[in-house]
Amino acid sequence: MFETLQTPPPDKILALSAAFRADPRADKLDLGVGVYKDEAGATVILRAVKEAERRLLAAQSTKTYVAPTGDEAFNAAMLGLVFGDAAPKDRLRAAQAPGGGGALRLLCELIHRAERGATVWLSDPTWPNHQGILRQVGLQFRTYPYFDPATRDVDYDAMRSALSEAGPGDVVLLHGCCHNPTGANLTPEHWRDIAALAVDRGFTPFVDIAYQGFGDGLEEDAQGVRILAASVPEMLVAASCSKNFAVYRERVGCAMALAASPEAADLAKANMGLLARVNWSMPPDHGAAAVAMILNDPELRTDWAAELESMRLRMLTLRTGLADALRARTNSDGYDFLARHRGMFSLLGATPEQVETLREAHGVYMIGDSRINIAGLNAAGIDRLTQALIAVGF
Ligand code: PLP
Repeated sequence: MFETLQTPPPDKILALSAAFRADPRADKLDLGVGVYKDEAGATVILRAVKEAERRLLAAQSTKTYVAPTGDEAFNAAMLGLVFGDAAPKDRLRAAQAPGGGGALRLLCELIHRAERGATVWLSDPTWPNHQGILRQVGLQFRTYPYFDPATRDVDYDAMRSALSEAGPGDVVLLHGCCHNPTGANLTPEHWRDIAALAVDRGFTPFVDIAYQGFGDGLEEDAQGVRILAASVPEMLVAASCSKNFAVYRERVGCAMALAASPEAADLAKANMGLLARVNWSMPPDHGAAAVAMILNDPELRTDWAAELESMRLRMLTLRTGLADALRARTNSDGYDFLARHRGMFSLLGATPEQVETLREAHGVYMIGDSRINIAGLNAAGIDRLTQALIAVGF
């Protein structure tokens, strides 16, 4: 039967990582794959996660099943982390899922189950897995303009005018913060306007929040979700703990639904449980148990928030450092967008030829669309990247 299959297109990010590993140059620079790295280039286990794991190992007495929707202590803690007090608890439900990717998949299947003909609106550009998941689930999608290549900021007027065409039954997928791949983000005013538009047009917002705490701070990065939650009757959120708890391979995420009534919320939760059951049956426990412990233990939570904050500040320092270095070398403020962007990524706007020359001639690896991972830099990396960018005429 397998002869009928077609070879899928190679995953560009994984192919880039393989090419980077095979490159013998000592001063090569990896700005590709989206994992946070420290000044030494390491993706370390956070102190609070290590401590929670130690306590779990000592205290855990069983490995029996939890539930298709996971651990309720985790679900409640995640709802608090993301929604704060912005929505009534009796209309909110959550299901633990294997990573933000699992949460997205679960919620897309929930949309398909509830509204088979729904159109999901995606930002152009977006994280490529959004399209992949929607295709696999069988939902149709359209795109809305998002990024202005000239200013490297959000083209909000174009975005708004496209979304004015979305209507009841449609779903609009938004990046909660730290937009991947562009790094350009919506302001609170934009979020308020989208909330009003959602109420007016009747579409359902669906927020993918994978970098809470990497942008302007833990609370600030959840503002978009909270502004929407305070006014729309229903919305969906897929949250990932991969980056902000650095538990990438443990697969920790949470699917959340705000429903118009407590009864509708129960229906959403029951259907999330059913969908989890037929997909992965139960989510993995370990990483989510560590996250729940951290969020519910004041001491661990404070330490986690402090370490996350130091990661965020490192990325901000790198951003301003790179923008300053390019301004000093070129006498132009055309690179200041790097300091305005937030999160791990910035879309540089370099041509495919420049991206290739950066890789081949300079050992600087970035995604083909010219997305760079800021966290892949350090002081020496800023110099290397600045020189290489200028050498390719960027
Ligand atoms: N959403 C966005 C925008 C992402 O960039 C990512 C990871 O790169 C995810 C969701 C899902 O992450 P994970 O499934 O690893 O938790």
